[in-house]
Amino acid sequence: MLLNVSPLKNKPGGTMPFRVDLDLHTFAFGGCRPVTEPVIADGSVRNTAGVLVMSGTVTTTLHGVCDRCARDVVRTVEYPLHAVLTEENVDLDGEEDPWLFPLENDCADLDDIVTTTFVLSMESKLLCKEDCKGLCPRCGKNWNDGPCDCRPEVDPRLAVLNQLLKKE
Ligand SMILES: [Zn+2]
Ligand SMILES: [Zn+2]
Repeated sequence: MLLNVSPLKNKPGGTMPFRVDLDLHTFAFGGCRPVTEPVIADGSVRNTAGVLVMSGTVTTTLHGVCDRCARDVVRTVEYPLHAVLTEENVDLDGEEDPWLFPLENDCADLDDIVTTTFVLSMESKLLCKEDCKGLCPRCGKNWNDGPCDCRPEVDPRLAVLNQLLKKE
């Protein structure tokens, strides 16, 4: 979807809302395709002293399998969207800044901006929760359900500490 920002160009302080739904279900991530629901972006573009700044949020609900414990994951994610829209012939000195997006004929390519924001914001792993404890490598028990009966491997540093504590 293209967003025509020409009404904003000569209106310092002016704003314009935007909203777009994207289908990114073909996007592969960590061996699966967790983006089964639409990716929704909304926010506004503001003319800040002649610079067009776009801000808002990108949200969706991911469906996949936890990278650590293999449990089903259904997680709503929300990422901030921040982009600066520039005229197409701005010289960026060959620098690839992902937050700068070109305007073509006064139009911003919302699909491109939202897709880029989404892909760059995603965590490197899909986890059922941030502190997922994973599976016991020996018995396979899901440690999120509590500890298993395997003997814990003692951290060598802790072993030294235990020795010291015993002496005192
Ligand atoms: Zn997990
Ligand atoms: Zn175990």
